[in-house]
Amino acid sequence: MVFGIFKKKDPVCGMKEEKGKGIYFGGNWFCSDNCKDKFEKDKPNKPSCCH
Ligand SMILES: [Zn+2]
Repeated sequence: MVFGIFKKKDPVCGMKEEKGKGIYFGGNWFCSDNCKDKFEKDKPNKPSCCH
């Protein structure tokens, strides 16, 4: 199983990728719309480089 290496993790809640479930967005995997929305909302608030 080569694909094991590419297993993603939900960056919001930390849940491991489950095949056939969740949403792929922006190179990340999210377990649900909720987490995707959270990630999207959090993005602009995060200091990306120089703050
Ligand atoms: Zn999640």
